[in-house]
Amino acid sequence: MKNIYSIGVGLIGGSFALDIKKQNPDVVIHGISRKEATLDKALALKLIDKKATLEAIKHADLVIVSIPVDATVKLLPTVLDLIPDSGLVVDAGSTKVDICKVVENHPKRRNFLAMHPIAGTEHSGPEAAIYGLFEGKTNIICEVEKTTFKLQEKALKLFADIGMRIRYMNPEAHDKHIAYMSHLSHISSFMLGKTVIDKEKNERDIFDMAGSGFASTVRLAKSSPEMWTPIFKQNKTNVIETLEEYINNLNHFKELMKQDDFEAIYNEMKNTNYIKDILNGMI
Ligand code: NAP
Repeated sequence: MKNIYSIGVGLIGGSFALDIKKQNPDVVIHGISRKEATLDKALALKLIDKKATLEAIKHADLVIVSIPVDATVKLLPTVLDLIPDSGLVVDAGSTKVDICKVVENHPKRRNFLAMHPIAGTEHSGPEAAIYGLFEGKTNIICEVEKTTFKLQEKALKLFADIGMRIRYMNPEAHDKHIAYMSHLSHISSFMLGKTVIDKEKNERDIFDMAGSGFASTVRLAKSSPEMWTPIFKQNKTNVIETLEEYINNLNHFKELMKQDDFEAIYNEMKNTNYIKDILNGMI
């Protein structure tokens, strides 16, 4: 692979560009973004070697699409129209059903690989891009059988080179599981942040009393609404289901408090400590 085009040069696109360039110093990373200022930043930060426009994709060996999921659904068919027969297009979107659906009948569907790197931070934009973001992380790949075998092989080598593990899943299973594992955590963090901000109007008090527990639980509330709103929109049904279960658990906890049933509260927490075994070695 010689010419790699990164559509989106923020946290994910920029971090892919850094790691790929480190592994393959001879590749040329071309950046494409909506705003000129974003591309200028990416160039100054050396995330990309050159600025490019969409039409140049006809020269691409690989295109990595890392823009919000609604923008991905709109742009992906055009990207596939432009890609040469030997080129591969991958997307990094956090939802997979709508993205896979929009290209299911595209004549170049076999040039596309749908993925979701389970790696990220609460920061966004080119400044957020870092080396090693994907090291030891899982990359979920959907509908792998719909991608040309030769292009699958190229993609898998690239992901292995930057330290990623691969997990295969269908788009429906991906969107259902990710609603629990990622989308609910973000909503819970946003609403925890909102609850505290609404109650503690004096921000100085929040700041002074914020221990590491609050800071780590509310970390995800710093995430970009521009990226998250389209994710919740595309995964609405699954997200509502997870919220209903979560709200039931919160209400159950509240009822136990009202009933002074602290033995049951102790047991709820004790049983949930099992999360330590599940996440052992992860965090
Ligand atoms: P980001 O840091 O905010 O970067 C977004 C990039 O997309 C920027 O280059 C931005 O450029 C461009 N962009 C924003 N809105 C756009 C629009 N409406 N149309 C076209 N381009 C647009 O976001 P990110 O965290 O890298 O996320 C990128 C993708 O990766 C998303 O699909 C997200 O679901 C997925 N993802 C994110 C994470 C995470 O933890 N953040 C993890 C895994 C996957 P301009 O400034 O030029 O608009």
